[in-house]
Amino acid sequence: MGVIDKNNSIIYAGDLVSKFGIDIKQAYEILEFMRDRELIERAYEMNSSICKCINGEVFNTIMSVPDNCPKCEREIDCLEETIVAYKY
Ligand SMILES: [Zn+2]
Repeated sequence: MGVIDKNNSIIYAGDLVSKFGIDIKQAYEILEFMRDRELIERAYEMNSSICKCINGEVFNTIMSVPDNCPKCEREIDCLEETIVAYKY
């Protein structure tokens, strides 16, 4: 389980917020509704709180996210420093 090609196959809750003017909770409800129906899958992206590096890699599972930031090499808190995204 590795890296997913991110090119236009990833959607963020924030995309729905800006497009439809809904709040972030509603956006996640919609995305989880679609996920329940296997239209999209959840994916994870590292977001180092120190260097803010998002290197474009998206992972299938939270366990696939690397333990250390590739840029600042600090150990990543996988709950606090991981963004949930969805792939379709
Ligand atoms: Zn970092």
